[in-house]
Amino acid sequence: MRIVLTGAAGFLGSHLAARLLQEGHEVVGVDNLITGSQTNLAWLQEKDGFSFREHDVSTPLFVDGAVDGVLHFASPASPVDYLEYPIQTLKVGSLGTHNMLGLAKEKEARFLLASTSEVYGDPEIHPQTEDYWGNVNPVGPRGVYDEAKRFAEAMTMAYHRHHGLDTRIARIFNTYGPRMRPADGRVVSNFVVQALRGEPLTVYGDGSQTRSFCYVTDEVDGLYRLFLSDEVEPVNVGNPTEYTIRELAQEILRQVDGPSTLEFRSLPEDDPKVRQPDITRARELLGWEPRIDLVEGLQQTIPYFRGLVEAGQAEARPLE
Ligand code: NAD
Ligand code: UDP
Repeated sequence: MRIVLTGAAGFLGSHLAARLLQEGHEVVGVDNLITGSQTNLAWLQEKDGFSFREHDVSTPLFVDGAVDGVLHFASPASPVDYLEYPIQTLKVGSLGTHNMLGLAKEKEARFLLASTSEVYGDPEIHPQTEDYWGNVNPVGPRGVYDEAKRFAEAMTMAYHRHHGLDTRIARIFNTYGPRMRPADGRVVSNFVVQALRGEPLTVYGDGSQTRSFCYVTDEVDGLYRLFLSDEVEPVNVGNPTEYTIRELAQEILRQVDGPSTLEFRSLPEDDPKVRQPDITRARELLGWEPRIDLVEGLQQTIPYFRGLVEAGQAEARPLE
């Protein structure tokens, strides 16, 4: 297949591009590099079958030739990033999704939306099943991301129902692994970089809030299976093992074994108190479940950040 992948220079996009190339597909990566990495891009550009277009997908994109799939991953994804780029986040989730659906319709291509567990907001149902409609504050600081993704899902279903477009919606839960930007600002990169630098780990709130962390190769495998499936309704793709943020910090301190301590800071507004995917649908429809637990995933992730810290190229990016 010839696949247009937006957000290809980002963390998930670069891993997904690598998997698509490995499966023998041609990948046209599209990115405006707002939160992407030149290093990811340089690494991909050395591979056969990969080409790159620097473009903001919130404006229309025209691609020559046949396209079989459009995978829409472009969007700031770290809370620190989308607080810094609120309008761009709203635009890429809304206008960007509309443009990429239009491209898929024009090319009669299959479309996959990278949606998020954030559509559930601060959830009142736990664990989260796909039939839960969520608890999102539309006017809070996280609303720029959450509501854009909710709009993106609605637009995707409208293209499916009204235009008969072949669509998929992946609700992705917290994913981590090598090739995250050290200054991404999300919890795994912050804590690992802080631990490697011997700095205090910045725990927001009392650290009792929970997340469920999926190692990136597991995540990409679930996403690829969803793309190949015929499931149109949203599917949760994440690791269902839940940890408190304090437990995550303690595991990272154990593995890095440095002098760091925990530093408690205020909890950001609307920070979800719990998050855990119910993956019954992914298990049944895709035959998928994660294989790599947090201990092993961190063992594979820490050496990547260690290399950057030792080269003087890594600083964490906690909220002030
Ligand atoms: P990332 O910030 O590493 O990558 C996002 C990429 O999109 C970057 O390369 C950025 O430059 C690009 N981009 C942003 N706006 C763009 C625009 N207007 N035009 C072109 N390119 C643009 O983030 P990520 O973690 O790789 O996330 C990728 C996708 O997966 C996002 O859509 C995100 O919402 C979704 N997601 C990720 C996670 C996760 O845990 N990583 C969880 C849920 C959902
Ligand atoms: N968090 C933290 N310290 C950090 C970064 C994040 O305690 O330096 C917390 C954050 O408040 C949230 C959880 O870790 O409860 C996950 O945050 P992240 O930004 O990774 O993603 P989210 O799941 O909130 O989108």
